[in-house]
Amino acid sequence: MAQITIVGAGIIGMATASILSRNHKVTIVAKNLPGDEPTIEWTSPWAGVSFIAGGCASAHEAKMQLDAFAELWRWSIAYPDSSIKQITIDDFHDDKTEEDIWWKDYMPEFRFLPPETFPQGAKIGTSYKSLILRPDIFLPWFRNKLEKSGVHFKRMELKSLSDARGLGHDILINATGFGSVTLQDVQDQDLEMVRGQTVVVKSSYNKLFMHDTGETYTYAIPRLDGTVVLGGTRQRDSVSPNVDWDLVRDIFKRINQHLPQHFSANPMDNNIIGHNVGLRPSRKSGVRIEKELRDGQKIVHAYGVAGGGYIFSFGIARAVRDLVEEFLFPSPEAKL
Ligand SMILES: Cc1cc2nc3c(=O)[nH]c(=O)nc-3n(C[C@H](O)[C@H](O)[C@H](O)COP(=O)(O)OP(=O)(O)OC[C@H]3O[C@@H](n4cnc5c(N)ncnc54)[C@H](O)[C@@H]3O)c2cc1C
Repeated sequence: MAQITIVGAGIIGMATASILSRNHKVTIVAKNLPGDEPTIEWTSPWAGVSFIAGGCASAHEAKMQLDAFAELWRWSIAYPDSSIKQITIDDFHDDKTEEDIWWKDYMPEFRFLPPETFPQGAKIGTSYKSLILRPDIFLPWFRNKLEKSGVHFKRMELKSLSDARGLGHDILINATGFGSVTLQDVQDQDLEMVRGQTVVVKSSYNKLFMHDTGETYTYAIPRLDGTVVLGGTRQRDSVSPNVDWDLVRDIFKRINQHLPQHFSANPMDNNIIGHNVGLRPSRKSGVRIEKELRDGQKIVHAYGVAGGGYIFSFGIARAVRDLVEEFLFPSPEAKL
């Protein structure tokens, strides 16, 4: 059993703790912890959350998504109090063909939708059983689950990963999201913050909906509790935590074009109960899952998953576990 410290208590840090704590002693240290009032300083509390398959650059990434889906699907059955629920999605794309839909063989109840159901511009439509969850319920619940299985949480802000050297671990996991821009010995220039804004309304609408044109994407995520999250937006020129009402108006305009019987184009005609503004940790060259030996400290990096932290969660965690095992049980020819 090794001692592992994970820096970061977002979905990536906690999913990693969930996998590693089966065989190791795990402590999570982080500036922001589940249960805190959400702030713009971290991303996980602001997510939708829906599981919409896709956006994978390789077979390895697709495998990570499927690993995460399988785990979350099991949890949706085993732990109703986690807020994870099963839901049907209608998912439309302007820039995909049938060959791109790799998840057609995996997602429950998958089928292609007939063209007459497509929104304007869409080239393909699919339907399958997927998952949603509420981060405000799920994150504290997940923390509690981990604590019960022996994972310790400690509030701590690091200036650099080398600050952690005295914590007594064998291996350090860096799951700091966009914190890896400022950590002095990481300063990842490839990482950028992509601002996302959603609006939460009261509504009985109960089907997950997505239309991705390749440039913009419009979605409705029912939380199956009489509320729905509407989006989406991607902004690279702002890190403001304040609600941008131009974006709110644009979201309602787009969602009204798709689901006019459920949502009005005029924001004031909808029953708005909240807004979410978060910064996605986006890495131009893709998520960093990599081991590094630095100043005598064994580090596994796990950050930069942009808009899919939940979708990839347990898949990334398993990839991290494999690298932890490479550190613990190196093959004779390993260089690190
Ligand atoms: C509007 C919006 C909607 C989204 N919808 C979805 C969705 O439907 N599905 C989906 O899968 N994803 C969605 N996402 C993306 C998802 O939220 C992110 O991919 C995910 O939260 C990233 O998690 P993380 O654990 O990497 O980072 P974070 O959640 O940011 O966690 C980072 C952790 O590291 C800690 N930390 C950082 N720096 C330091 C430091 N120096 N010292 C100590 N601790 C530090 C922080 O305190 C925090 O605990 C959405 C995002 C947004 C903004």
